[in-house]
Order: sequence, then structure tokens, then C-alpha cells
Amino acid sequence: MGAKIPWPAAVQAPHFTVALSGTIGGLYWNQNRCFSTFLYEIAGVYATRIPEPVTSFFPEFLWSGASGGQELHLTFDDGPHPEWTPRILDMLGSAGHKGTFFCVGENVERYPSVFERIQDEGHSWGNHTMRHESGWSTGQYAYLKSFLQCEDITGSGLFRPPYGRMTRGQAKAIAMRSRIVMWDLLTGDFDQKRTAEQCLTSTLGHLRPGSIAVMHDSDKASPRTPGLLAGILHEMEEQGWKGSALDMPGHP
Ligand SMILES: [Zn+2]
Repeated sequence: MGAKIPWPAAVQAPHFTVALSGTIGGLYWNQNRCFSTFLYEIAGVYATRIPEPVTSFFPEFLWSGASGGQELHLTFDDGPHPEWTPRILDMLGSAGHKGTFFCVGENVERYPSVFERIQDEGHSWGNHTMRHESGWSTGQYAYLKSFLQCEDITGSGLFRPPYGRMTRGQAKAIAMRSRIVMWDLLTGDFDQKRTAEQCLTSTLGHLRPGSIAVMHDSDKASPRTPGLLAGILHEMEEQGWKGSALDMPGHP
């Protein structure tokens, strides 16, 4: 499998790539490994389940939970945020659900009491790097340093790469210390061109037990996330589904 296969330039980036928003996909092995690639164009259609061929190429990542029961996993990236995280915590708390918060280290340092509240209320949390770097545009050393700095602060054993972007080397190094959590359902709450109602409609078409859904506790997503979350929680109540926190390795 050593021979180079002339793939288009776009898929020859020196990366083992996982791109999960917008254009998806791309696998790259070199030299003594084989080349393979796949591209998924979802062209602005969010809340699309990540297709099976994508997830099966990366079996070492966590893409979804068990589909047999009544549990699903709501995850919130980019906080803690002094306004939006408490609002989300209030909504989850009054509906009796738990979630998972992938925190940016700098925000944990800025808002330690919000981070404590996540912990105190029985949710789980994960590492989302120190400064929300994209793995594709950050060197190996700097990326791993950012991962370790955030891990020192959060100590969760769960990691989600910002933008879903990592190089093969970064993923390999991080997987030795942390469970890498992706998702199978993009709600699109980060998309400033969409309304909460549009996000909700597309999300409800795909939400089911076992889902790992991505939302954000951030200013950028704030015009959509509370309305979207309210609709999701309503549907969960109707269906008898339970929001449960992802298990953190090494935590009871
Ligand atoms: Zn993020």
C-alpha cells in the first residue's frame, strides 16, 4: 500500500483529518500506510447525523452512546460563560437532566464559580483546549501543550477538539491520556444565519436515544441555544427520554 495515489490536492493535506462542520471528511495515510478519503458535503444542512462511514473510520473516538435505552447526551462547548452557562444549568436542572460541558481552559480560569457550579450540580465536563485552537493550524507541540494545560485545570479525562479538527499525531497523543468525544448530531446553534426554530426543526428530526448532540454556551450561539434547548427538553419529556452526563474516566 506504499504507492502514492494521486488524490485531488484538497485531500492531500498532511493531516489525518476529521472535519465535521460544512464539508466533512478526509482520511490520510502516507507512505507505508494507504491513502483513503471520503468527502461529505452537507452544505449548510446541520443536525444531520454524522454518517456511519465517517464514524466507522474513526472507531477510537466516541461518536454516540447506547441507542437501546432512553438516555441521550446533551453537550455544550466553549464555556464556561457567566450568562449562558448558568441559564443552561437552570434549564437542565429544572427538567431533571444532566449534560456534559466541554470547557475552554481560559474560560475556566476566568469564571471559576461557573465551572464549580457545573461540577456541583452533577454534570460532567471535558477539556476543549486552553484557547480553543484548531488542531489543523496549530503545531503538534503547541496543541498538546494547550491540551495539557486545560487538562491540568479540568482533570476530566474527556476531550473534544475545537471544530472537530485534529491531525493524526495530535489525536494519537491525546488518545493515550483522554477519551476523545465527537458527536453524531450537530444542532447548528453556532450558525448565525439560522433561527432557533430552524435549528430545532432539524434537530428533532434526528434526536433519539444514544445521540450525542452539540450545542454551545457562548455569545455567538446565544440567540439560538436557549430556544433550541427548551424545544429539545420539551421533546425529551414527551418521549420519556433522559439527558445523561457522559462518564469521565477515573471519576466515580
Ligand atoms: Zn468549541
